[in-house]
Amino acid sequence: MAGKFDFIRQDVESLKEAGLYISLRVMGSAADAWMVVDGQRVLNFCTNNYLGLANHPRIKAAAIKAVDDWGVGPAAVRSIAGTQELHVEFERRMAEFKGVEDALYVQSGFCANQAALAPLVGRDRATGEQDVLFSDRLNHASIIDGARLSGAKIVVYEHCDARDAEAKIKENLPSFRRGLLVTDGVFSMDGDIAPLDELYEVAEKYGVMTMVDDAHGEGVLGGGKGIVHHFGLQGKFDVEVGTLSKAFGVVGGVIAGKKIVVDYLRQKARPFLFSSATTPADTAACIAAVDLLEESSELVDRLWGNTEYFKKGMAELGFDTGRTQTPIVPVMLGEAPLAKDFSRKLFENGVFAMALGFPTVPRGEARIRVMNTAAHSREDLDTGLEAFEKVGRELGVI
Ligand SMILES: *Cc1c(COP(=O)(O)O)cnc(C)c1O
Repeated sequence: MAGKFDFIRQDVESLKEAGLYISLRVMGSAADAWMVVDGQRVLNFCTNNYLGLANHPRIKAAAIKAVDDWGVGPAAVRSIAGTQELHVEFERRMAEFKGVEDALYVQSGFCANQAALAPLVGRDRATGEQDVLFSDRLNHASIIDGARLSGAKIVVYEHCDARDAEAKIKENLPSFRRGLLVTDGVFSMDGDIAPLDELYEVAEKYGVMTMVDDAHGEGVLGGGKGIVHHFGLQGKFDVEVGTLSKAFGVVGGVIAGKKIVVDYLRQKARPFLFSSATTPADTAACIAAVDLLEESSELVDRLWGNTEYFKKGMAELGFDTGRTQTPIVPVMLGEAPLAKDFSRKLFENGVFAMALGFPTVPRGEARIRVMNTAAHSREDLDTGLEAFEKVGRELGVI
């Protein structure tokens, strides 16, 4: 008789054969420019710690004080007894910071997409009426999962292509009850950004709701206020999803936008209603991050200064850094085994940078991805560039 878990053994075997089996690296220190990774101190280019807030003294102090004042957990979901003054304060501060009417704080960016999509679009069980979601081909997994969970029909448009989005809306919208267009703000594999101005125009023209997931733009674009500010569209997008786990350095998700929508999510969003609230330490740390961003543009400026410096250095060395417009720098290498080799050799030279291959990115477009941050010094970047030069020559890439 076949073993009950043979299906797992077989699947794991095929993952290993395809080179897709994930082995976890273990961090031995806080997320920062330099970290202990698998016991070795290396220069870190892998975390989304854009502003260096994950280990920032002021943010840590705010978290520690919140534990003293409020304890370690709220011990309830938001809708029963889990809404602490800290949550209300953070939501108010976040809405002000982003220049929108209201904001809702949930447990993660992943949760935020589950929370926001299903209440806005779906399928009416009683009447059978269905809504339609227009979704960029390269949208994040959490949008795809939220979209599937909603029960709405998903229509995919070509990546960053507002003309194709319009064609898909024209063709499909009449057969459905209502529509919503959803896109990542920054696409994390290439570092390119969605044409929000064109997408907004198209969606408005047909009366389709608009939602952008700004996980990699929050704290980075628009002087730190995100991609909607970058395009001068503040207050126009219906829903702006964000994460507090990247540039903000903490954890949590936010759904900002029109008051009528955000208030409705307080009634309907299932991660909000059925999963406990974020901890006092997380919430207070997020408030402290907003304080820092509102006081000064120093960290955002340093992030962009570092990004320009690193990109210029890589271009001078002869590397192809793709179509990035953000601090995410893909170093295009072609085949997956080369990218893996490159990453391994960088690590041997004291630099931690991740190789990405199929199916995370298309076949033949394997790469090393470098995440620039404000935590790096110019000296750190020079160290990184030297390692790229050395390994690039060894492997015949440059
Ligand atoms: C990282 C990411 C998320 C998930 O955010 P978490 O706060 O880590 O759950 C969601 N959407 C996009 C586009 C992301 O890049």
